[in-house]
Amino acid sequence: MKKHILIIPGDGIGQEVTTWGKAVLEQIASDNGYNFTFDEALMGHAAIEATGDPLPEETLNKAKASDAILFGAVGHIKYDNDPTLKVRPEGGLLGIRKGLGLYANLRPIVLFDELLEASSIKPEVLKGTDILFFRELTGDAYFGEKKRSEDRNTASDLMIYHRYEVERIAIKAFEAARTRNKKVCSVDKANVLESSRLWREVVQDVAKNYPDVEVTHMFADTVSMQLIKNPRQFDVIVTTNIFGDLLTDEASQIAGSMGMLASASIGDGTGFFEPIHGSAHDIAGQNKANPLASILSAALMLEISFGLKEEAQRVTEAVRQVLKHGYRTGDIATVNTDRNKILGTKEMGQQVLTFLKKSVLAEESKMSLV
Ligand code: NAD
Repeated sequence: MKKHILIIPGDGIGQEVTTWGKAVLEQIASDNGYNFTFDEALMGHAAIEATGDPLPEETLNKAKASDAILFGAVGHIKYDNDPTLKVRPEGGLLGIRKGLGLYANLRPIVLFDELLEASSIKPEVLKGTDILFFRELTGDAYFGEKKRSEDRNTASDLMIYHRYEVERIAIKAFEAARTRNKKVCSVDKANVLESSRLWREVVQDVAKNYPDVEVTHMFADTVSMQLIKNPRQFDVIVTTNIFGDLLTDEASQIAGSMGMLASASIGDGTGFFEPIHGSAHDIAGQNKANPLASILSAALMLEISFGLKEEAQRVTEAVRQVLKHGYRTGDIATVNTDRNKILGTKEMGQQVLTFLKKSVLAEESKMSLV
């Protein structure tokens, strides 16, 4: 198998964590005789500093020419403290989503049993939770017409959806449900919003083609409560851009830390894989960032973009083994963690590679016994 992968580290801890996502991809390639080639490109603050543009043309061209992209994060304290700055790092992210036609953001919310106590929710409520979110990425009030009255005292953002936008993400969600527990929960506010009534109508239409998948519709406010009360009831959740933005951040707490969650943005072309966290200025450059979300993003790439499900499972299993052996970065350590097993970014990345290599050796020795 031959694949060309673009690495976009971005800003802050982006560089530190993508190093390990890439290392895992290299290891998988070397273990299986795959030919993975890599290139690197700038985005965000780093790109503004170098070129004046958060998404230089060269980056977009490289992105379009690659088979998949591993991204870190963008953002810099300078922009957070000055909302009036017009050229901003996040412009790079919005630009690449548009440029690549990425319309669905997938966020698996999976809790490793080893981290049950790292979440603020009771372990007995969480155990066994496995949710796959599909958040629509190109519509809603984020992209609808924005207006401000002349006297500057009234503002509006048009919440807009077109049938085709709802249809294409609903199809992705139903297809995914077929490979899981065959349940889709569609989330809207059809009691008050016309755009949500369209959303529900289209999801109901798409559902007719998937009679083997159970579909439910829930209001966004109810889901925000149910995610904490009984997260295990959900399998696939499909929702709009804004509701998805809010609900997936809420759901990230189920997994214990932002440093644990991976995501994939997909459309009809190149896939874009990234941790859900930002550039974390507070810990950047200190070898404190948890690299597991980037490593799990690499696993998502293997499965979704390259169809390498078994290899993706090997990466996830290596992460589980590291956690099982008690190793933690600071963000997922608890009072019960052995202080000697609290690791920095590099040491944690190395541990995952060690367990990944061990799994190949175990596989080889099993084969030699046969
Ligand atoms: P953040 O996700 O960067 O950090 C939130 C908190 O979580 C911080 O305390 C941080 O130390 C911690 N954290 C995040 N990732 C971690 C990891 N891998 N390991 C350990 N701890 C981790 O969010 P923020 O502080 O709100 O934003 C910081 C910057 O990131 C801002 O400039 C923001 O605009 C940007 N941002 C970018 C993205 C993106 O690129 N996709 C997403 C969110 C925020």
